[in-house]
Amino acid sequence: MNTANETLNIASFAPTPRTLMGPGPSDVHPRVLGALARPTIGHLDPDFIGLMDDIKALLQYAFQTENSVTFPISAPGSAGMEACFANLVEPGDKVVVCQNGVFGGRMKENVLRCGGVPVMVEDDWGRAVDPEKVEAALGANPDAGILAFVHAETSTGAASDARVLAELARKHHCLTIVDTVTSLGGMPVKVDEWGIDAVYSGSQKCLSCAPGLSPVSFGERALKKVRNRRARVQSWFLDLNLILGYWGEGAKRAYHHTAPVNPLYGLHEALLMLREEGLENAWARHRTNHLALRAGLEALGLRFLVPEQQRLPQLNTVTIPEGVDDAAVRSRLLKEYNLELGAGLGAWAGRVWRIGLMGHSSRAENILLCVGALEALLGSMGAPVTPGALTKVQQTLENPIDVSA
Ligand SMILES: *Cc1c(COP(=O)(O)O)cnc(C)c1O
Repeated sequence: MNTANETLNIASFAPTPRTLMGPGPSDVHPRVLGALARPTIGHLDPDFIGLMDDIKALLQYAFQTENSVTFPISAPGSAGMEACFANLVEPGDKVVVCQNGVFGGRMKENVLRCGGVPVMVEDDWGRAVDPEKVEAALGANPDAGILAFVHAETSTGAASDARVLAELARKHHCLTIVDTVTSLGGMPVKVDEWGIDAVYSGSQKCLSCAPGLSPVSFGERALKKVRNRRARVQSWFLDLNLILGYWGEGAKRAYHHTAPVNPLYGLHEALLMLREEGLENAWARHRTNHLALRAGLEALGLRFLVPEQQRLPQLNTVTIPEGVDDAAVRSRLLKEYNLELGAGLGAWAGRVWRIGLMGHSSRAENILLCVGALEALLGSMGAPVTPGALTKVQQTLENPIDVSA
């Protein structure tokens, strides 16, 4: 074993800056990086308490909710997911889970680990959750108490109609657990208007922040269920009753765990930027930039996987042309352009690229870089490429006509 420093020979880590256009993390805004580097203070410091209150208010804005229990879990999006299920699902509880990609499968796994009984509603990968199937499942399982679904399936690029699904849940007296990890900040998420009961997100997708935090929000009906549980929440760390001693309204901010102080500075700055831009403007930016990227990709002959009306603006999945080596293209993009695109998952590994335009990554210069790089690489690999894709991008940026709206 090496114990002497000189034999370890390790230097400070200095990553090459990349342009992140995959399924997350996305580019972190320099203002957020600056905030992360500020001096660490104590997590019970009176100044820090003020920051926590700001974050809660800014998250209420982002989620469009007045829920007082709205705060970030000190861990990535998966922990937000787990917090929702661990608190709301008790042994024996029946949960209708929609699956149209990777993340619905994780929801099922969470239900099982909480001792619940998942009732699966399955749709093809690359398609939205079908409300008719959901309605049928809710009708056939009147003893189900929760409907869980993913708003924006990052594994495929498909958007589901959260408003309609939440309405169905209400009609059938079910609570909703909704994954908005990839939708929050990039497309409308209206927790109160849509009647969503429990929702979680992530810091590193459309919020332009570093990974590691998971904003959540719980409405009154969900909290009632948590308070009336028969069994204790199995996870000590994620037990809302305990966390709220630190994050709760009027709480004396008792120590629960050491809050991730600097990451919370980053989230605060990112949410502040979203507030400055305005939610509607952020949604419109994601929409316009999606149209510009689409114009460029289609000019290159690339085809979208998801039907037009169900596409996420922030995650664009296109099929890889015949004869083009997926891994070779992505590794050259990284080496020669410092550009990261996302690979396909599951049955689509090697067959699609997932191109993210999330948060600070959703910018004209990124689209031009991506389309220009793909044009050059595909051409050099013998794929038939008609020139002019960048012109299409420019034209769409100047005059974004939303043909699908
Ligand atoms: C990224 C993602 C998650 C998981 O978030 P992590 O921060 O990676 O734990 C969950 N759901 C969806 C839809 C995601 O895109």
